[in-house]
Amino acid sequence: MRTAVFSARRYDKTMLTAANATAGHELLFIEDRLTVDTAVLAAGCEAVCVFVNDNVDAEVLDRLSRQGTRLVATRSTGYNQIDVAAARRNGIAVVRVTDYSPHSVAEFAVGLLLAVNRKIARASMRTREGNFDLDGLMGFDLHGKTVGVIGTGKIGTIFGRIMAGFGCVVLGSDRQENAAFQAFGGRYVPLDALHASSDVVSLHCPLTPETHHIVNAHSLAQSKRGSILINTSRGGLVDTEAASEALKTGQLGGLAIDVYEQEANLFFQDLSSTIICDDVIQRLVSFPNVIVTGHQAFFTVEAIRQIMQTTIDSISAFEHGAALVNQVPSP
Ligand code: NAD
Repeated sequence: MRTAVFSARRYDKTMLTAANATAGHELLFIEDRLTVDTAVLAAGCEAVCVFVNDNVDAEVLDRLSRQGTRLVATRSTGYNQIDVAAARRNGIAVVRVTDYSPHSVAEFAVGLLLAVNRKIARASMRTREGNFDLDGLMGFDLHGKTVGVIGTGKIGTIFGRIMAGFGCVVLGSDRQENAAFQAFGGRYVPLDALHASSDVVSLHCPLTPETHHIVNAHSLAQSKRGSILINTSRGGLVDTEAASEALKTGQLGGLAIDVYEQEANLFFQDLSSTIICDDVIQRLVSFPNVIVTGHQAFFTVEAIRQIMQTTIDSISAFEHGAALVNQVPSP
C-alpha cells in the first residue's frame, strides 16, 4: 500500500524499511512534520504514517481524506495528536502501537531520576572541564523514600516495580486499579495524598482533557517541599510555567522531563545553530536541577523494532481487510 511516512528520521527509514521487507508496501519518506501545508505531499497515499508531533487535526484529516487517505498509523502509543472523531467522520481508520517495550520508557524514567537526583549530567560536564569538586552535587538516597506514580498502566507499573527494588515505598494514582501494580506492594492513594507524601512523582498517564496540567500550581503547592518531578509521558501533563516558579522557590527540588508542552517546534531536530525563541524552555534548561531530554524515552533497539513491525503489520491488515487489532476506538 502506498504510504506517506511523515517526520521520517534516518532511523525511521532504516528500521521501517527493514520491517517492510516482506510486506512490500510502497513507503514514501517525508522529513517534514504533517501539517495542513505538508498534507499535500501525501496525495495518492492510502495510508499515512505519523509520529507524536505531527498535526493530525480535523483540517488536515479533511484534506487527507479528499486526497484518498483511508488509514492513519501513528508510530507511538499516545495518539493525542490525532483528532480521532474527525478521522471517523472522514472514514479514516486510526491505528497506533499499543504494545512495545514499556521497559524502554520505564527504565529511562529511572535514569532521569538518578541523573537529576545525583546530578550525574552536571558532574560529567564538570569533569570534562577538569573540575572534580563535589560542591553542589549532593543528592539523597532513594532507599526508604516515597515514590508517587500517576498512571499505573504498563509503563507506570514497571517503573513502580523498579523503584520498589530500590527499597522505595511506591504509591499510585489511577482511574482504575491494576493488580500488577499492587503485586509488588504498590499502594493506591488519592492524588492529593500522593502529592503530599511523595519525595518523587513520576507521570505515566496519557494526555487527555482530564489529565491536561494534572501537575499545576495547586498540586505543586501541595507537594512535599523539595520533591522531584519526572515526566516521560506527555508535555501537556505539566503546567511548565508553574513548575518553573516552584523550582525558583525550592518547592520543587528537581525536574527531569523527556516531553515538553511546546515540544512540537523544538524536538527531533538540531537547532544548535539557531536562536531558540521559547523563553520557557530556555529558562528551564538554565536551572542546575533540571534535566531536559528530547522525547527519547522510547528510543531503544527493541522498542523501535517492535514499533516499526506493528506499524507495517497494521498497514498490511488494513490492505487485506483483516481485523485492526491496534485500532484506536472512536471517542
Ligand atoms: P497504559 O494505557 O498502559 O497506561 C496508562 C494509565 O494511565 C492507565 O492505567 C490509565 O487508567 C491511566 N490513566 C488514565 N487517565 C488517568 C488519570 N486521569 N489519572 C491517573 N491515571 C490515569 O499506557 P502506557 O503504555 O503505560 O503509556 C503511558 C503514557 O506514556 C502514554 O500515554 C504516552 O503518553 C507515554 N509514552 C511516552 C513515551 C516517550 O518516549 N516519552 C513513549 C511511550 C509512551
